[in-house]
Amino acid sequence: MSGGLVIIGSGLAGYMIAKEWRKYDTSTPLTIITQSDGNFYSKPLLSTALTSQRTPEVLPTSSATQMAEQLDATILTRTRVDEIQPENKKVIYNDGQLEYDQLVLALGADTIKPTIMGNAAGQIISVNNLEEYSVFRKKLDPKLHVTILGAGLVGCEFANDLVNVQHPVDVVALCSYPLDRLVTPDIGEIIRASLEQSGVNWRLSQSVERMDQKDDNILLTLNNGETLKTDVVLSAIGLRPHINLAKEAGLRVNRGILVDNYLSTSMESIYALGDCAEVCGHVLQYVAPLLACSRALAKTLIGEKTEVIYPAMPVVLKTPACPLVVSPPPQDLKGEWRVSGTHFDCRALFYDTAEQLRGFALTGTMVKERADLQKLLPPIFS
Ligand SMILES: Cc1cc2nc3c(=O)[nH]c(=O)nc-3n(C[C@H](O)[C@H](O)[C@H](O)COP(=O)(O)OP(=O)(O)OC[C@H]3O[C@@H](n4cnc5c(N)ncnc54)[C@H](O)[C@@H]3O)c2cc1C
Repeated sequence: MSGGLVIIGSGLAGYMIAKEWRKYDTSTPLTIITQSDGNFYSKPLLSTALTSQRTPEVLPTSSATQMAEQLDATILTRTRVDEIQPENKKVIYNDGQLEYDQLVLALGADTIKPTIMGNAAGQIISVNNLEEYSVFRKKLDPKLHVTILGAGLVGCEFANDLVNVQHPVDVVALCSYPLDRLVTPDIGEIIRASLEQSGVNWRLSQSVERMDQKDDNILLTLNNGETLKTDVVLSAIGLRPHINLAKEAGLRVNRGILVDNYLSTSMESIYALGDCAEVCGHVLQYVAPLLACSRALAKTLIGEKTEVIYPAMPVVLKTPACPLVVSPPPQDLKGEWRVSGTHFDCRALFYDTAEQLRGFALTGTMVKERADLQKLLPPIFS
């Protein structure tokens, strides 16, 4: 097989760029290579699936075969790309190789694994795709105790989802308040208290050092010497852009695969988007940025060079115990947070030194101010 557009990855980034591009180009051959089963599903639904009573089996909206038909594409599933040869415009996989005219990397991210000792450490689960989620759900007999490691977006959402269906939940996290990378301590405290009211037990400023099997349970030993009996351990301590394949091919990488505002990597005819990409210095592992990238890149791929623009893209947390929307200010930007509101309804606004609004976090009834505040924010880059 040879030529055409080749996309590696069948997550939201891979499929969205394919869909956008096919709107303009209906004839060039398209091949999508993925190490998964190629089912199309919305990853954000994983952390609300218990509450919405969806099983892993009903989450895919299209199979790989249906996607291949819709996109007029060849989809190679369960196929892992091991090497990219930019000089020959080729990708090498399990049992074959494929030439490309243009290559798009939509490789996603790898979950960061915690370093934990003990004979049960191998039982830690992380969830960054539907298949891993199926493994998690199979372990979840009703009422089993779940310990979540990490209090970021994914950890908080899973905690809320689990307590909604009456699982006892402890969250162990090194940070002193939840979502510490996204919000101020005041807002973090509101999230903590709201989820606690719903049944989440917090163990903040702590970490798990050992996991040992004790009869039918797992015994966790924390860094302060305390122990905790649990049944299932879900790690949600973060994601690292999948850069190895690109790095080995000689593409420039930093935190992610480096791309400019045309989504071009350092090698001709190779592009990247989604969780694997660092776009003009920004690694934003959310859906809105990859949609913006897909729309721009589709045009560039058909020869109409189009820059991606990142407007402010607030993230809505799926924590019904505490409605929260956050648009974090750029990292390391000088300025100050101004917090107002009462009780669980809080507004935190970040102003830079020129008094320009650059970020916000809203909880409770304040989330209704989101659209108005979003209009006041400058683009992340343009
Ligand atoms: C539980 C959860 C909830 C979330 N909720 C939200 C939310 O509410 N809002 C929001 O904006 N974002 C949310 N996100 C983030 C969002 O889902 C991701 O940013 C997005 O799905 C990333 O898509 P992607 O295609 O870049 O990566 P992925 O979905 O990880 O896809 C990567 C693809 O690359 C393939 N691949 C990797 N390496 C190879 C290889 N060598 N060969 C072949 N194939 C390969 C994989 O098989 C996979 O198909 C959530 C994430 C999680 C985990």
